[in-house]
Order: sequence, then C-alpha cells, then structure tokens
Amino acid sequence: MNRRSSRRRFILGAGATSLVAGLAGRSPETAAASGQSKTVAVPAVPASAGGQGPLLRMQMDLQRALAKPVAERRWTMVIDQRKCVGCSACTVACKAENQLPPGVVYRPVIEEDLGTYPNVSRRFVPRPCMQCENPPCVSVCPVAATYRRPDGIVEIDYEACIGCRYCVTACPYSARTFDSGLYYTRNTPAEQPYEQQANFEYGKRWDRAKGSPVGNVRKCTFCVHRLEAGMLPACTTTCIGGATYFGDASDPESLVAELIASPNATRLKEEFGTKPKVYYLV
Ligand code: SF4
Ligand code: SF4
Repeated sequence: MNRRSSRRRFILGAGATSLVAGLAGRSPETAAASGQSKTVAVPAVPASAGGQGPLLRMQMDLQRALAKPVAERRWTMVIDQRKCVGCSACTVACKAENQLPPGVVYRPVIEEDLGTYPNVSRRFVPRPCMQCENPPCVSVCPVAATYRRPDGIVEIDYEACIGCRYCVTACPYSARTFDSGLYYTRNTPAEQPYEQQANFEYGKRWDRAKGSPVGNVRKCTFCVHRLEAGMLPACTTTCIGGATYFGDASDPESLVAELIASPNATRLKEEFGTKPKVYYLV
C-alpha cells in the first residue's frame, strides 16, 4: 500500500489502528534527534556589530546560540506591534523561502480595527507558529508525526504525517494549514517550473512531484533550516518595519531576552497554558 492510499484509508476510518500501532513506539525525543545539532560554518559578523543595529546584533546572538548544545537554546521571536506597518513583506518572504503553495501560509499578518468612530485605529498582528512549550497540536497527533525538539521548535515529520488534520483543529492560533497539492500557475495555461522547485524545510530536500509535503499539514518552523545554517529566519531579515526580532532567550545578553523582560511584552492566549515562544510588544 502506498503512503497516499494509507492516508485515504486513515481518513475514511480504516487502517488507523494499524498505523498507530506501527508508530506508537516512536518517541518524540527519537524523532527530534534527527535533523539537528550538526556543526555549521556560521557567516562571519564584524566584531563591532554590537553597535550597528538590531539585525547585526541578532546575528551575533545567533552565533553564540549555535555554539551552545541544542537543548540549551530557547528560540524566541518578538514582534513589536508598534513598528509593524502591515506591509506583509514577511508573509511573502516566508512564502518564497519555504515554497508555499496556494492555501498554505505560515505567517499571515492579521489586521485589527480598534476603537469607535471617529476615534479609530488599526494594528497588525503577524502570526507565525508560537512554538508552544505546551503544544496542543502534538498531543492529538495519532502517529507522533509532530513533536517538540529540545530547543523548543515544534516540527512535523512529513514522512510520518498522514494528513488527518487533527492538529489543525487543536491549534488555538490557527498556525497550521494543509497542503492539498495546488499550484498558482496550473491551467493558466502553463504551470511554471518554479512551482515544482524543491524546498528545504527541516534541512531536507522535498520535491512536490514526488509527494511530501503534498498531503501533509505544514507550519512555520522559525526557519530551522536557516538557523542551522547560521541565518536568521526569513521574516526577520525582510521585516521592513524592523518589527521582528529573533534569538535565544536563554542568553541574558541577547536582544530578545532584553525585549521580553520589558513590561509591554505579552503573549497571545496565555490563558490556554500553551506558553508561546512568540512575544508581542504592545
Ligand atoms: Fe502547535 Fe499551534 Fe502552538 Fe504552533 S502555535 S506549536 S501549531 S499549538
Ligand atoms: Fe499528525 Fe497533524 Fe499530520 Fe495528523 S495532520 S498526522 S495530527 S501532523
């Protein structure tokens, strides 16, 4: 039976038991151990970068974090809503970086209208995956295809995911979307070759024509494939408003550690007990 027909059988209610039984012994720790903690050559940063703006400071923070054992890193994102201009450059950068097809978005920018006419204003809420410390998406997965790494990033194993979408329903932040195999340019009249280009999520090569991630649930990974190559997430480096910060909050010298200690730092839906790793400055 091929993987695609397995998925169909699961969704129709048949075959679920055998799939669960087959993978039940696979611990999150075992899964998390793959695709991480390799040594990388990190791009050099000028020694004087500390005084040269947040991007270079974050790059230096990243260098220090990558020199530590994986389990000692605490990847954290901070989004300053006062600086976000709602341009969606981050959304587009993420789409390009991860080769996201129609219907799949990792970092939408949600618009909120505040106040009562005539005293109204608008604010923007970029919404990546929160990489929750207590992620409800993980516990509902019937095949242990999604798990939390020691550094806090919640991953999806595309080879194990059966596309049941339980996790989509469980996520309180609507951070997961399903790749149903659509293409922007199909029948326009010609599908463009760039849409079949591989993506490199989780540090592996994925070719859409061969299957995954088509038929899988997908979500933001804090660009873990870039982090492990010594680069900041694509949304962070492209943020036109300079509103997105990233780093290792376990490092007291890091910019994100400084920012999340400020009194205006808050997190979404904290009452759910999910302990998100994305903070907002309001
Ligand atoms: Fe899971 Fe949603 Fe939390 Fe991301 S935001 S870790 S998808 S529950
Ligand atoms: Fe697990 Fe979500 Fe894939 Fe279902 S769709 S197998 S819950 S990761």
